[in-house]
Amino acid sequence: MQSVESYLNEIIAAITLLPPEDLPLDQADGAVLAVDAVTSWPLPGFDNSAMDGYAVRAADVAGATEEHPVTLPVDAEVAAGDTASYAVKPGRSVKIMTGALLPDGADAVIPVEWTDDGRETVSITRAAAAGNAIRRAGGDAKPGDLLLPAGTRLGAAQIGVLAAAGHGTVRARRRPRVTVISTGNELAEPGSPLVPGRIWDSNSYMLAAAARQAGCEATRHAMLPDDPKAVLAAIEQAAATADLLMTSGGVSMGGEHDVVKAALTKLGTVTFRKVAMQPGMPQGFGLIGTASTSGAGRAADGGPPGIATPIFTLPGNPVSAFVSFRLFVEPAVRALQGLRAEPALPRTARLVAAITSPDGKRSFLRANFDRVTGSVTPLTGQNSHQIASLARADSLIIIPESVTSLPAGQTVDVLELP
Ligand code: AMP
Ligand code: MG
Repeated sequence: MQSVESYLNEIIAAITLLPPEDLPLDQADGAVLAVDAVTSWPLPGFDNSAMDGYAVRAADVAGATEEHPVTLPVDAEVAAGDTASYAVKPGRSVKIMTGALLPDGADAVIPVEWTDDGRETVSITRAAAAGNAIRRAGGDAKPGDLLLPAGTRLGAAQIGVLAAAGHGTVRARRRPRVTVISTGNELAEPGSPLVPGRIWDSNSYMLAAAARQAGCEATRHAMLPDDPKAVLAAIEQAAATADLLMTSGGVSMGGEHDVVKAALTKLGTVTFRKVAMQPGMPQGFGLIGTASTSGAGRAADGGPPGIATPIFTLPGNPVSAFVSFRLFVEPAVRALQGLRAEPALPRTARLVAAITSPDGKRSFLRANFDRVTGSVTPLTGQNSHQIASLARADSLIIIPESVTSLPAGQTVDVLELP
């Protein structure tokens, strides 16, 4: 059996980075910057008002108080977007709106709240220091400043600053496109009627959701029957447009019923193995699209030709598939975008109840983690088909390969689920 680390290392080593693209900003959410983003403009771009009020010379209002207001003539009104040039002459003022270009000569803005809001003249009841309510050009970023380093995943604020600096497109690696294919003669579409002997397909919905949560665009392929020819054809077709494929089912030890294994083994580019973990021991990983077929891989997508698509053949039991996603697929997804592949660091917690674990396998026990008390409670129902207990879990307790039991009170590693 292969260790979890050795299997993960093999996967990461096989991943080829997605090509950088010039993505329109409204399609860049979740993409990862391929180059440093530098601003060639100052932010803000020009001196402007931070408030609605009156642009003045600070010296002219130095003596203003409630008892002795200073009254100034108002020469003009300047709103945001007005590109004409205005000036504040000594002893005078210009009414100004938030975001409007600061008139020449002005060195302070008096908020409208400190005035009588006058039109011809304005009565000012408080003095202001030079620079009051003024946003200086370059006060946020100067031309040539690094806004975001290469390798940054673009979220809302990052997209915002790129737009603010005038970038219409961004050179980045898009969200990986993931296709999920469920296999099994027993599968029925949720929402359709069921007869005994069949089950509703949960894995493709679960894995597509997990992929989206991990920052991918995910699509569910139509469910496939246990027919190796149909499975191979679907996988090769899906590989032409996806950056990563996941199948579920058909990889355990059941001989001719293991349809995914049967379909892919002869290609020679996907390897099936046992990984020393529970749940999730039967795993398969490889590449589809170069050696096996022509026209597949990322070339169809505009990427460099001949890059094969990574495929994960996940076990059919839902909890096994879920844990496999967290341990192996998610790091691979990160690696596709050039992000560090290491999974989130576990926390430590005190076990509330005794547990047992198989010898020689790392086990992942569904649990509820209490951050306040630093304790973790294993859930009842730890079999790999028990998705109801998975749905109640907020974390996985990690038990090392050599440990077969632990009493309550012991300290364990806990992986929080997103
Ligand atoms: P397999 O890996 O195909 O031998 O399947 C192992 C177990 O997982 C069986 O009990 C299957 O019925 C179940 N299973 C397989 N695929 C799915 C699926 N898409 N959704 C829910 N359970 C599944
Ligand atoms: Mg099956």
